[in-house]
Amino acid sequence: MSSLPSNVDVAIIGAGAAGLGAAHALKDSGLSVIVLEARDRVGGRAHTIQAAPDVVFDVGCGWLHSADENSFVPIAEQLGFAIDKTLPPWRERAYGKAFPQEDRAEFIHALDTFFERAEQAAIEARRAGRDLPAKLALEPGNRWNPMIDAISTYINGAELDRVSILDMDAYEDSNINWRVRRGYGALVAAYGAACPLAFNAQVTLIDHSGKRVRIETTRGTLTADKVIITVPTNLIADEAIRFHPALPAKLDAARGLPLGLADKVTLALAEPDALPKEGNLRAATMRTEMGTYHLRPFGQPCIEGFFGGRFARRLEDAGDGALAAAAIDEIVSFIGNDFRRKLKPLAESRWALDPFARGSYSHALPGHAGDRAVLAAPVDGRLFFAGEATSPNFFSTAHGARDSGERAAKEVLADLKPERD
Ligand SMILES: Cc1cc2nc3c(=O)[nH]c(=O)nc-3n(C[C@H](O)[C@H](O)[C@H](O)COP(=O)(O)OP(=O)(O)OC[C@H]3O[C@@H](n4cnc5c(N)ncnc54)[C@H](O)[C@@H]3O)c2cc1C
Repeated sequence: MSSLPSNVDVAIIGAGAAGLGAAHALKDSGLSVIVLEARDRVGGRAHTIQAAPDVVFDVGCGWLHSADENSFVPIAEQLGFAIDKTLPPWRERAYGKAFPQEDRAEFIHALDTFFERAEQAAIEARRAGRDLPAKLALEPGNRWNPMIDAISTYINGAELDRVSILDMDAYEDSNINWRVRRGYGALVAAYGAACPLAFNAQVTLIDHSGKRVRIETTRGTLTADKVIITVPTNLIADEAIRFHPALPAKLDAARGLPLGLADKVTLALAEPDALPKEGNLRAATMRTEMGTYHLRPFGQPCIEGFFGGRFARRLEDAGDGALAAAAIDEIVSFIGNDFRRKLKPLAESRWALDPFARGSYSHALPGHAGDRAVLAAPVDGRLFFAGEATSPNFFSTAHGARDSGERAAKEVLADLKPERD
């Protein structure tokens, strides 16, 4: 492993979508740049694995959300990554008898009504100048409420009692969702390939007390004029990276924007023709503790399960394999015990236990919708902040992260301009 440079103009901390977006935006600036990454790979929460010879699995992000506005779409085209525009199966393409069509239509209606109520509640909350838990937008007594809360655990990584109504309302969704055939993580990794990366360089301290910023890493110390920090909020909140002097406003903002939890599992499916391609499987469980299942994504011989919130946390805590076991039990309870012998665990995520993520994606706690702007604000023209949690409207996504990195890099360049002119 070559040693780190001892001085750079700009150090970027984290080689996820945000760090890579920043590095790309500085490419032709003439500045010396290094991306310091704790892991031995690029991409962070974007990570594709070959779970089996015929199964590609995105352990983290998989969907190009708001695809018509998503900056990774043109990047995919440039890099020769085929985009699949098949509609997601979340609303349509229900499979099996576990969720009869009539019930499903009623559930989707209840869900749509909840989002309308939430929009209205956000308008009123904004008018009244106070933020509230999104849970208050549930229609009292509606029998679908526990399952609407399950949807919140997929979207926000948290139940509605932990989600700010103003923040939920700020999220922009054009409802166009595409995928990358070779994997979103593979696309982000290809995007990062040409960046100046230093792996296994875990940053532990950012000392901005002197003229230059001193950065301590597990591979040694370096100094920089400017630093762009892109690590997940939970690492800032836990002080896994310390600042000297301390930055209490950043700590508070990071604590107001915790990473919720979403976990995925992929199961090999023997005799795949028994199930439809690109189907969705779930049931009227009337529980919040439920998975949702994507049958044969891209036609592959597998089923992908998705869990969120406190339920996902409990499964992670139960140990390796618990997610797969819960998924298999639930699937066979929907489509019959014959399927048990056809399903085999291939891979599962444990994002809360991942030391360099400590969760899946950020949501604002009630009362903390304003924290995204606080976290994003530069400090003394030397410390700049990016990462999905700093995005005003595309937070919790990979493209929001990438765009935030580009925004931070532009702030760096704007700050340098007077010196260079
Ligand atoms: C299960 C799951 C499903 C998802 N689904 C989608 C989806 O369908 N669509 C979508 O758009 N988004 C999705 N997301 C969210 C998306 O993956 C993230 O929002 C995005 O990848 C975050 O990028 P980032 O650069 O902000 O952070 P990260 O990707 O977390 O990058 C930060 C980097 O900093 C590194 N780091 C941490 N600590 C240190 C340190 N001390 N020193 C140096 N480096 C450090 C980390 O290793 C990491 O590489 C999903 C996420 C998960 C977990």
